[in-house]
Amino acid sequence: MVHSSADDLLSRSLQYVKGVGPRRFALLQRLLLTTTRDLLLFFPINHKDRASVTPIARVKMGQEFNIVAQIIDVRGRRFNGKEKIEAMLQDESGSIRASWWNPYIADKLTPNAWAFFSGKVGSFGERRELSSPEFEVLNDSEDGDDGSSVAFTGPSFGRIVPIYNLRPKQRSPDGTPVAEVRLNQNFLRKLVWDAVNSGAAEQLSDALPPTVRQQRRLMTLSDAIRQIHFPDSFEKAEQARRTLVFEELFMLALGVALRRAQVDKGAQSKRLVLVPAIEKRITARLPFELTSEQSKVFREIAADMGRTRPMNRLLQGDVGSGKTAVAVSALLLCVAHGSQAAMLAPTEVLAEQHYRTLSKMLQNSRVNLGLLRGGMNAGERAEFLERLAAGEIHIAIGTHALLEENVRFKELSLVIVDEQHKFGVSQRMSLRKKGNSPHVLVMTATPIPRTLTLTLYGDLEVSSINAPPPGRGEIESKWVKEADRPKIYRLILNEARKGHACYVVLPRIDEAGEVASPAPAGKRGQQSLWNEVKGAEAEFKRLREHMPTLRIELLHGRMDSEQKDLALQRLREGKVDVLVSTQVIEVGIDLPNATVMVIENAEMFGLSALHQLRGRVGRSERKSYCLVLGDPKTDEGRERLKTFVSTRDGFKIAEADFALRGPGQFFGTAQSGMPELKIADLLRDQDVLVEARDAAQALVRSDERLSRPEHSKLRSRVREVFSGKLEFVDMG
Ligand code: ADP
Ligand code: MG
Repeated sequence: MVHSSADDLLSRSLQYVKGVGPRRFALLQRLLLTTTRDLLLFFPINHKDRASVTPIARVKMGQEFNIVAQIIDVRGRRFNGKEKIEAMLQDESGSIRASWWNPYIADKLTPNAWAFFSGKVGSFGERRELSSPEFEVLNDSEDGDDGSSVAFTGPSFGRIVPIYNLRPKQRSPDGTPVAEVRLNQNFLRKLVWDAVNSGAAEQLSDALPPTVRQQRRLMTLSDAIRQIHFPDSFEKAEQARRTLVFEELFMLALGVALRRAQVDKGAQSKRLVLVPAIEKRITARLPFELTSEQSKVFREIAADMGRTRPMNRLLQGDVGSGKTAVAVSALLLCVAHGSQAAMLAPTEVLAEQHYRTLSKMLQNSRVNLGLLRGGMNAGERAEFLERLAAGEIHIAIGTHALLEENVRFKELSLVIVDEQHKFGVSQRMSLRKKGNSPHVLVMTATPIPRTLTLTLYGDLEVSSINAPPPGRGEIESKWVKEADRPKIYRLILNEARKGHACYVVLPRIDEAGEVASPAPAGKRGQQSLWNEVKGAEAEFKRLREHMPTLRIELLHGRMDSEQKDLALQRLREGKVDVLVSTQVIEVGIDLPNATVMVIENAEMFGLSALHQLRGRVGRSERKSYCLVLGDPKTDEGRERLKTFVSTRDGFKIAEADFALRGPGQFFGTAQSGMPELKIADLLRDQDVLVEARDAAQALVRSDERLSRPEHSKLRSRVREVFSGKLEFVDMG
């Protein structure tokens, strides 16, 4: 078989590479490495200096050194039944002993040969020695009497070498990384080395326009790939990294810029102008006066809605900041113009709550509300759909079920998506398709780090509510231990006596028994990493037995709608002291007299989820408590809980969450529309991000659909990067 076309070089399976074999191939696959292309794009996380060599006389204890020395003497000794291999190494300046606890090493240490050693200097007894150094023997040592002519031309020695991340990408439920695969760095270096030298890198499509490359002083793609793996110097490595980061962020920014251009292009939205008469009617319907922060953002929203260019705005405001009232104002502005509006919530429970809130405000008005529920029977559903299509329902509320094909509106002019982070970008786009370019407002309590507003949300305008409505009590957040349980129950009883409600949240519905808390490393003999995970149903029973005087209810996603409604209704009527629940209550639930939030197995929740849960209390002037019970088995887990109890600032929480988990996890890559980043670090590379965005926007201004011939490579590259997630961008 003789293949030489470009594609074959890049897509050649590693399975057939010499030295790989089925076992190693399986391990490579766990790192998502199956072809030469994957290897080239498997960027190192760091580099190590194996270029500079130190004379033996100058090596010091406790540090790592590279030495080039002759192997003088090799012998094996036994200590406590284990065999230790020792070799004397010598150069012009002196000698040092090296040792390995591995009998097989002896075969590789050719006496009198020169070799390159790299390792840490420790001590054995009185003497300093190199402990288990990595090494490479120079085969051709005939003229190597002094070692000065020794030249290392391989991937692992005598140069700056790459260090690869051997942890598979996937993470365990609580967000901690899984164990490293058992491949060694030198093996991987050799594979990548051969890939880089095969000429395959030159076959990768270099999509960046030359002008952009020159302006930003970037390397060519193939140079960057060579230099990121096996750099000639640390400066070159940094330059290569910058090039690749720029390339990656540029493609991302380009996708977003194209999407925005697409939304704008020719779209004519209905103008929904806020005139004083309408404003007065809206104000009259709200049960309270908007705070100045709420008014400010409503004005920004109304200004957008008054134009024919479709609104594409993100409203962010911490939990409890009062986003609903702003949303309601926008909905009313829309219906005042005789048009239809839709409001999407991520859960039925929340949709139901919005429906109630609105129903109350709109009593005795001509505005008709409709709630699309999962539990509707065929007749009810058909009636709902019919009324919606006829324009009889003015405001439709529901979950993502509102996005389904057969849900049709007569004239949909405004779509509001609550808790946007629970939805994906493509869902947002499918709503946009529903009406005649409706205005879109998305709301989130998870503040979006600035870096993301520049990228993934770069096509959105942003409004922020920066202060909550007045009269909010303190929330005392505490990380408590199992031993504090009696105190927790006392607090619940006390608060119940005052007529306050309490939430107890568990990670699961069923008791899970022991669930592996993900091990940070695959070393054997480590402490137990198992967590006892409690379930809501069992906890509900336990609490009922333990506190028989209290009215305790259960709420979780597997209950049917009727049961759920009943529980919620009792809760609203103040007939519940303790609500035992799962994460379903994470978002939206608004119950001002709730003052205690207890989160069990808190190590199982992400930072943002914890923050959302805490947002269920502290909704009145009363003092509230948020108690997290948890025994994280990883540093990351402990860090998470520490951060959580130390701040109530949603922005700080979001930044920390983002830093701890990375953007993919932060939004759930699969549904967020965010391509996985291979090399860019959105926190560290903010400067490059701004540059890349500006360059991308400039390019899209000059060529709105990348239809010019010189942009054809770029066009296919963007498509590839977003792999289907940009399907709504019609690039012809
Ligand atoms: P979120 O931003 O988390 O969605 P909500 O819209 O649920 O917050 O509002 C939280 C609480 O604050 C609700 O009980 C709501 O009635 C109350 N609220 C909102 N705006 C005001 C206001 N301007 N004055 C008084 N209370 C308000
Ligand atoms: Mg809300």
